Amino acid sequence: MKKIKIEKIIRSNRKTIALTVTPDATLIVRAPMKTSLDYIENLVQKKRLWIESKQEFFQKNSQKYFPKEFVNGEGFWYLGKEYKLEIVENQEIPVILENTLKIAKECLPFAKKCLVQWYKQMAFYKISQRAKRYAKETGLSYNTIRITDAQKRWGSCGPKGTLNFSWRLIMSPMKILDYVVVHELAHLEEPNHSSRFWNKVKVLLPDYKERQEWLKENGNRLRV
Ligand SMILES: [Zn+2]
Repeated sequence: MKKIKIEKIIRSNRKTIALTVTPDATLIVRAPMKTSLDYIENLVQKKRLWIESKQEFFQKNSQKYFPKEFVNGEGFWYLGKEYKLEIVENQEIPVILENTLKIAKECLPFAKKCLVQWYKQMAFYKISQRAKRYAKETGLSYNTIRITDAQKRWGSCGPKGTLNFSWRLIMSPMKILDYVVVHELAHLEEPNHSSRFWNKVKVLLPDYKERQEWLKENGNRLRV
């Protein structure tokens, strides 16, 4: 059996030992001052399964943790499709989507802000369109659509018929965006996740569970 590598041991006045696997899949041990190396190594061997599964998880998902660099050819998601970033000189509009995602060179110093702004505009436009369509289909009526910065809360239904959606949804396929729209529309009549609520969702989207799963598995990737 291969020995598990301890990247770093941090000793302090703490009373217990803590093992941490960082997103770059290295193991860090925090230990009290006097704990012997033998004791630590023994413990690490005992926790081998847990450590390895964490490391495997991070290795598999490592792409999630690379921050964007905003360079030519880097991939950006829009409605479930990946577009290559293209830095364009003399482009008056900050961001244009054609076969590539074209960003004006002048925007590069604040590229992230610029792209998020664009994603928000597109999210508002597309989500409003889909909400209108499903509201008509169901006879449900909402008041306003708001686009939020939420990281994990894809949508919510506020008082007075306000529907909130995270701009990150615009990176996911239309099927997924539709699911969140329908989910929030259904909340207008059924505030809780009761069986009545899920039945409403199911009537419109019989495969809603698959869409829900997709979001659980891929939601982390919807970021700039
Ligand atoms: Zn809900």
